[in-house]
Amino acid sequence: MKTKFIQLDCNNIDNKKIIEAAEILKQGGLVAFPTETVYGLGADGLNEEASGKIYAAKGRPSDNPLILHISSMKALDALTAGDCTLGRKLAEAFWPGPLTLIFKKSNLVPLTTTGGLDTVAIRMPAHPIAFELIRQAGLYIAAPSANASGRPSPTTAKHVIEDMDGRIDMILDGGSADIGLESTIVDVSADIPIILRPGYITLEDIIGITGEAEYDKGLLQKPESEDFKPKAPGMKYKHYAPRGQLTIYEGESKAVVRAINQAAEKKLKEGYRVGIIATDETLLSYEKGLIKTIGTRKDEKTIAAGLFKILRDFDGEQADYIYSESFYDNHLGQAIMNRLLKAAGYHIEKV
Ligand code: AMP
Ligand code: MG
Repeated sequence: MKTKFIQLDCNNIDNKKIIEAAEILKQGGLVAFPTETVYGLGADGLNEEASGKIYAAKGRPSDNPLILHISSMKALDALTAGDCTLGRKLAEAFWPGPLTLIFKKSNLVPLTTTGGLDTVAIRMPAHPIAFELIRQAGLYIAAPSANASGRPSPTTAKHVIEDMDGRIDMILDGGSADIGLESTIVDVSADIPIILRPGYITLEDIIGITGEAEYDKGLLQKPESEDFKPKAPGMKYKHYAPRGQLTIYEGESKAVVRAINQAAEKKLKEGYRVGIIATDETLLSYEKGLIKTIGTRKDEKTIAAGLFKILRDFDGEQADYIYSESFYDNHLGQAIMNRLLKAAGYHIEKV
């Protein structure tokens, strides 16, 4: 299949191109598009054949459900069942935005979309291209991250081309995704909101609206433990993995730098290619290897936005070993470390 590549200006969106992309979706095709979190791979979420193509293009396990993307609150009436008061409160506070809500599903939603679950994940994205595309198509768009399953999520159209060229109908390029981490997922199908995947919208943000919320207990377990049964099926898969082996160093900054320098020196001597994930603050303290900064600790948003890109960059440089600092700071720390730990297969050195 030849993949059509289209560039769009977010500040002046060419409506003809959006209509062309919307037509592909209406005919059951696949279109990758930018959102404020990461690039999504879209298809008609109620058309089982179309959403089946998403699983095939990504190599995604069929029990990993898809998020339906909407452009109007009215969609909640059609897609959900039961009492949605809790979810609507959060939707009103954070939509359009980087928050996915899990509701009891209506009969309209096929079980192939929800991986056999009786709940459905729904998000209204804020990115103008995503929003316009969904609106023009007049559909509920299933759109997981537009990466090959297991690889780091794409934050630029170039990343999407790497994984999806020749496998999908169209890629819309709208520049870099602002946030760079996937949406926060909150289950609102019971009485208390449960965070199934941490993201840009934090536990504190949710509690600010609903008065209470907690993390899914399964999420906090390590995958090797017996109790590791996260409620979001996707959270159990190895994810985000760069091709090289990633190790995260935890501890006081100077000790971390020293330990990473030692580990890098050793592997370089053995003839391996070594990548180091530094910050603007520590960049000059590293001595040898492929040294890259992920962002600045003065603004943790830059670290979130740089994470998947730096993992892909080290793939491009064929790093065999990658050493990273840890980023537990402030309010995005949970979301950043959730991705980084998975990328590292929970390989941690405490120093
Ligand atoms: P992605 O679209 O690639 O960001 O992945 C979607 C994530 O949402 C995966 O981790 C899924 O397991 C999760 N998800 C989707 N639908 C549900 C649902 N009904 N219940 C729990 N988790 C869900
Ligand atoms: Mg994904």
